[in-house]
This record gives sequence, C-alpha cells and structure tokens, in this order.
Amino acid sequence: MIAFVRLLARNRLALAGGIVLSLVILLVLLTPILPLADPDVTDTANRFKPPFSQGALLGTDHLGRDLLSRLLWGTQLSLAVGFAAAIIAATVGAAIGIVAGFYGGRTDNIIMRGVDMLMAFPYILLALAIVAALGPGLFNALIAVAAVNVPFFARNIRGVTVGIAHKEFVDAARLAGMSNTRIILTEVLPNVIPVIIIAMSTTIGWMILETAGLSFLGLGSQPPQADLGSMLGEARSALISNPHTSIVPGVMILIIVMSINLLGDGVRDALDPRLKSGALSRPMAATLVRRAGTPPPPAGRGLLEVRELQTQFHVKDRVYRAVGGVSLHVEKGECLGIIGESGSGKSVTALSVMGLVASPPGVITGGAVRYDGTDLIGAPYRQLRDMRGRNVAYIFQDPLATLHPLYRVGDQLVEAIRSHRPIGKEEGRAKAIELLAAVRIPNPEKRISDYPHEMSGGMRQRVGIAMALANDPDIIIADEPTTALDVTVQAQILALLDDLRRSRGLAIVFITHDFGVVAQLCDRVAVMYAGRIVEEGHTREILETPRHPYTTRLMACVPELGEGKRRLEAIAGLPPVVDKLPAGCAFAERCLKVQEVCRQGDIPLEGTGGRAVRCLFPEAPISEAAE
Ligand code: ADP
Ligand code: MG
Repeated sequence: MIAFVRLLARNRLALAGGIVLSLVILLVLLTPILPLADPDVTDTANRFKPPFSQGALLGTDHLGRDLLSRLLWGTQLSLAVGFAAAIIAATVGAAIGIVAGFYGGRTDNIIMRGVDMLMAFPYILLALAIVAALGPGLFNALIAVAAVNVPFFARNIRGVTVGIAHKEFVDAARLAGMSNTRIILTEVLPNVIPVIIIAMSTTIGWMILETAGLSFLGLGSQPPQADLGSMLGEARSALISNPHTSIVPGVMILIIVMSINLLGDGVRDALDPRLKSGALSRPMAATLVRRAGTPPPPAGRGLLEVRELQTQFHVKDRVYRAVGGVSLHVEKGECLGIIGESGSGKSVTALSVMGLVASPPGVITGGAVRYDGTDLIGAPYRQLRDMRGRNVAYIFQDPLATLHPLYRVGDQLVEAIRSHRPIGKEEGRAKAIELLAAVRIPNPEKRISDYPHEMSGGMRQRVGIAMALANDPDIIIADEPTTALDVTVQAQILALLDDLRRSRGLAIVFITHDFGVVAQLCDRVAVMYAGRIVEEGHTREILETPRHPYTTRLMACVPELGEGKRRLEAIAGLPPVVDKLPAGCAFAERCLKVQEVCRQGDIPLEGTGGRAVRCLFPEAPISEAAE
C-alpha cells in the first residue's frame, strides 16, 4: 500500500489531480456547515447579479438564486451520483464478469452475448432509452448511467478471470476440495480487485459527465434541486447575455473530470504490474553499452575473444553484477565448455557477445568482445545484425521458444536463410531440406512442412540446430541445448554437434551445468561462479585434477558408472545474490576449506599454459597440475 502511494506520488500529474480532487471533496463535505444562502430560494428582484457582487460571491442565476451555494450543493450531488453509479456498475459488472469467466462454457456464452447486445447500442442512446422507460429523475439517471457501464466492467473482468481460472493455484484449491464460491472469493477476487479499481478509476470521470449530460437534458435532477448538469441546462438560455451562469458549473465539471482522469491514469500505471515492470517499453535492439575507460587490448587468441567482460542489470537503485570480468576465447574447430550452477552468469555472458541482453535493464559496463579482431561491444546495430546468425549463431535450451508455433518449420528455416542471402523460394526450400538432413532428421522432404508441435522435443532441438547452421556460422553458442531432453536424445544431439564441429570446422561454446556433457564434447572448460571464472583448463586436466574447491564439489554431483554406492553430494547453501557480492572469494560461504584471508580482497585468476584457478588454497599442488 505504501509502495503504491509512493509510486502514485512520483507521477506529478496524478499527484496534482489527486490534490485538486481532494480539495473539491473537502469543500463538498464542508458545504452543510458553511454559511451559505439556501440554494433553492428564488429572489427574482436580484436575478443575474454578476460575480463578486454584494452577498453573492459568484453572482445569481435567472431566478436570483445564489450561484455559489447552488454550485457547492450541486457538486456534492453530482459527485455522489457519479461515485454511486461507478460503484454499482463495478460491483454488478465484476460479478457478471467473474461468473462468466470462472464457469466458462455455456454460462459464459449466454452471459457474454447478452453483454454484447447491450454494448451494441451507443452509450448515451441506451441511457436515454432507460431513463425514458423509468421516467425522469436523478435516481433513474443514476441507474441508467450504471447500467450502460456494466458491460465495460463485465468484459474487462471476464478477460482477467479467464486467465486466472486456469492458473495452478486455482487447480490446487480445487484439488484441496474448496467449493467454487470459496475459490471465487478467496482465490479469484483478490487477484481481480486491482483490475476493478483500475477500470473504476478510468471511468468514474465519464460517469459524472454522463450523469451531467442526462441532467442537462432535463432527465436527471428535477427543479429546483441543483446538480452540475441541470445548472448548465438552466443557464443555456442566458449563455450570451449572462455567461457567468454557464461558466460556473462548466468550470467545475472541467476541474472534476480532469482531476479524476489524471488521478485515474496514475492509479492505473501504479497498479498495473506490466506497466510497473517496464515490460511495455520495448527492449533496445542491442544491449546498452556504457564502458568506462578504454577497452582492454586484444591478447590475440582465438577466433572469438572475450576480454574482461562486465555485464550488469540496473534495476531501480540496485546493480546486479551478473558478469564480473570474464575472459574467454575459442579457436576455429574448438569446443569450449562453460559450466556452473544456475544463476552463475553463463547465459548473460553468452548473450552479451552479440548484444542480445535485454536493455533495459542490461548494461555492458566493461571489457571487449573481439570477433576476428574487431570489437563487437559498442559496434553499430547494423553491423551486429549482419553478424548475428551469419558469424555467430545461438542454440537455446527451449526450442519451442525459438520456433514460432504457427508457422511450418520449413518456412521458418527458409526465412532464417533468406534474412542474410537474397535467394529464391525454391532454392531456399532445397537448402532447408539439406539442413534438416544435415541434422539427421529422417524424411526431411516430408518433415519440412510439419508444425513445431508435430515434432518431438529432440527433433525440435535438431531444427533449432539447423536454424543455427542456416547461414554457415563460424561459431555456435549453445546455451544448455540438451537440458530439456532425455538422456538418449541428449547423447544423439551431442554426437551431432561433435560431427558438425569436425566436418565444418565450427567453433562451439557449450554452456551446461553437467560435467558429464563437458567430458563428452569439450576440449577446454571454464568453470563459472557468481559471474566470474574460478577455474579453467583442458577438460582432461580439470576432470583429473580439479583445483578449485567449487569444481571439486560440482564434479561430486555427477553420478559415475561403476562407482558403487558413492553418495551423490549436493553443494550445501546457495550461490550469492549478485547485487551484494561479498568481498574476497564469492564461494567462501560454502567452502569447506575457507580461511580468514579468503574473505579479504580480490583473488586473482592465476596459472600458466591455459590452466588457471582463482583460489588461495587450491586442491591439488601446482607441480601435480602442471604435469
Ligand atoms: P545462468 O548461469 O543460469 O545462465 P544467468 O546468466 O541467466 O545464469 O543469470 C546470471 C545472473 O544474472 C543471475 O544471478 C540473475 O539473477 C541475474 N539476472 C539475469 N537476468 C536478469 C534481469 N533481467 N534482471 C536482473 N537480474 C538478472
Ligand atoms: Mg542460463
């Protein structure tokens, strides 16, 4: 609640609207005790007195009634009717919407078709028809205005309820044996209330205006009772000769409706989680780069060379150091493994290479990524786009997220090919079939017209690989491509990648959390922890003599065949959150060998011959590791 008010107050316009509206409401509440003239007493001798005359601050109307008094009483009435109409419309509309959305099926159909019928009439016409049927009068006008707004609420709330009714927590409540009424009251309603408030705050101004409209036409409040609409209506005949009689209620309507709408927009923005998270602002085409100082010079190793890369997420006033100075390189035809627990910064490292980290909140704050010598960080978007897919291609964990569900896989492959090369449809199709064959999809001529859902998980991941191969890239970055697959399919995919690497001379950066996979595929491996590399070297060396305690513990998590009844050990504790990294070694909290010095100062990544470790007390002695 406090957070909501703070968010609201940050919006200047909403704040101004809120203050003005509060003043109006305060004035209206004080009206009964203010020393005002009776609003309904006529005094024809003093008609049309101008504003600021003796005894009548805002002047008098065509019957000599005090305008200030009528204005305040009228405002009170208009606000009360408007709010009442909004509450009635919201309650009835929300009830209808929740019932329709929750029960669905025929109930939903019948209710919503009725609502559609009401919506088919123009607003004010429908209100007029209702008042005509019920007879003029303020109460009937209130009912009419509420009734014409019910469909709006019903539709909105139904949409939200449909989404909620299929969520897991509702299923869980059902399985726990809760009755439908209780589910609606305890599970659905609390989640719908913000939407109801948003809908109300954005329509209440309209309802006040509509009530005023009906009164203006003489169908709302009846003489001598004043509301803002009827005051305008009565002043109409003197619009030219005595404009102040129209201006007084007119300005008040303007003030009320404007302040309510400004406040309403603010409420909507503050309550809507999508707007709050900034999800509606589109991410930039390439990750934002804010590098301080000059980028580190090239070390001249590898086709792709990452030097001291730093990528952060700036969320409000927090800074998440997802990647804190990572250096990597990969040669042509080589496979480099990056291994680490979930959240260690592997994906962010990989995405930073081609500027694919979403900005905001992602920012690259330091380092260099060189492809064949040219720095890609801060490169113009055109250049990056040109290189994405053609020089460096990605394979992601979930092929369903890569493939569009509504297009045939063949069309998607052809599109990927044609985005970089101007070739004809037929030629594209032939190339797509060739690619599917290359990733060993049986019967590619037929499979090319499958939709993604018609394929198995392993087959979809093969299509994902085929997409990555579409433009003959030199480097493939595979981010946990086999994590979602079962073990036999995983083995096939790994064999396929290994083949491709040997036959095409591909460089592969393979991200995983599984040492078994690294052992099968990678030449070298880098172990990541809390956004930094803690150990790197040739796969065989690291598997035989791991030196960082984290590497040792990570390897102990992998079951080995023929190892008998060794206990699989999970690493106790959790990785540190990267917005509050401890001084010294990030693994210290969970390390069994931790000493006092480990927690003081930065620990460098040290070693020779491509073998390095970031630890003051490595497991194996240097001589043994050097072999
Ligand atoms: P993984 O090694 O599992 O691939 P990631 O690279 O995805 O890990 O994430 C690294 C760190 O970056 C995590 O600690 C995560 O909390 C943080 N992170 C990732 N995306 C965001 C984001 N959009 N906003 C804030 N923090 C993020
Ligand atoms: Mg990841």
